[in-house]
Amino acid sequence: MKVTEHIQNANGKPLFSFEILPPLKGQNIQSIFDSVDPLMEFKPPFIDVTYHREEYEYKERENGLLQKKIVRKRPGTVGICAAIQNKYQVDAIPHILCGGFTKEDTENFLIDLDFLGIDNVVALRGDAVKNEIYFKPEKEGHRYASELVGQISNLNKAIYLDDELQNSTATDFCIGVAGYPEKHMEAPSLDSDIQFLKQKIENGADYIVTQMFFDNAKFFEFVKKCRNAGISVPIIPGLKPIASKKQLNLIPHRFKVDLPDDLVNEVSKAKSDSEVYQIGIEWCVAQSKELIENNIPILHYYSMGKAKNIAEIAKNIF
Ligand SMILES: Cc1cc2nc3c(=O)[nH]c(=O)nc-3n(C[C@H](O)[C@H](O)[C@H](O)COP(=O)(O)OP(=O)(O)OC[C@H]3O[C@@H](n4cnc5c(N)ncnc54)[C@H](O)[C@@H]3O)c2cc1C
Repeated sequence: MKVTEHIQNANGKPLFSFEILPPLKGQNIQSIFDSVDPLMEFKPPFIDVTYHREEYEYKERENGLLQKKIVRKRPGTVGICAAIQNKYQVDAIPHILCGGFTKEDTENFLIDLDFLGIDNVVALRGDAVKNEIYFKPEKEGHRYASELVGQISNLNKAIYLDDELQNSTATDFCIGVAGYPEKHMEAPSLDSDIQFLKQKIENGADYIVTQMFFDNAKFFEFVKKCRNAGISVPIIPGLKPIASKKQLNLIPHRFKVDLPDDLVNEVSKAKSDSEVYQIGIEWCVAQSKELIENNIPILHYYSMGKAKNIAEIAKNIF
């Protein structure tokens, strides 16, 4: 079922959903089930599965020269989605990227998803390849997520790349896109980022999932600005509990978001990571409660394969 239908059917009751990462290459799918099992009691209508493109590594050879090696550390997005739908009978939502895909690759990927009975996708540009500053699209690929959304929307109208295809069938994907309450790191301003977000909606996106944030005021302001800009689709907040002191620096660096002073002070004063873990849970519970009071349809948690703190939070909320 589509995310938009899940929201409609919930009749205002807030829903719980979460995101997982494929395991590192070499691990088996049991690690996924182990991170999903403890969260099933909170009845997620859908589970997102991230997509990880190839990375470049440089290995020093015996002669001292560097050899460039292409590695995909976390393959398996589509297989995991199929396994989740099969095992738990909930919707699995694969993320799909512009990066590393030609338009032809994208079309074939979407055909696989359609045949597997997947009803939703989250369309993203992807980051620059590690060690590069700027994102580079494939020669025959998309530069921005809005273009990828356009291709998925076309497929939903039975418009394939080969315009000579006869009697082609339309897909029926519900399309999610990313939004950034604290703006995307490359955007010159929040307003310009929201204009490009609007383009994704105009090209056919049905809902927005946000980057993680730790200060609800930033989310509320973002939603207000989106509504003023004419964006009317559901905006699903993305939440992540802090779980270690190290994350105080890691999260702003990796995700380009700020942490509120009160949270930083509390975490800094903590004497152990288990204390930080508890602070992270309490902060996220408080955020979740306030979001629900403000009629947010779904709370989406970045579990990153660690179910324990998300389960603690969900117990308090759902
Ligand atoms: C909910 C969520 C899930 C994610 N999942 C994954 C994942 O599974 N795998 C992964 O690799 N990454 C993932 N990411 C990270 C994401 O790929 C990066 O943040 C990426 O840098 C931007 O992707 P986007 O889809 O927001 O890009 P876009 O919407 O294309 O925007 C990228 C930048 O370009 C600007 N822009 C957009 N259109 C134009 C235009 N026409 N002209 C000029 N500028 C423009 C925007 O303002 C923005 O600064 C996720 C992010 C979020 C928030």
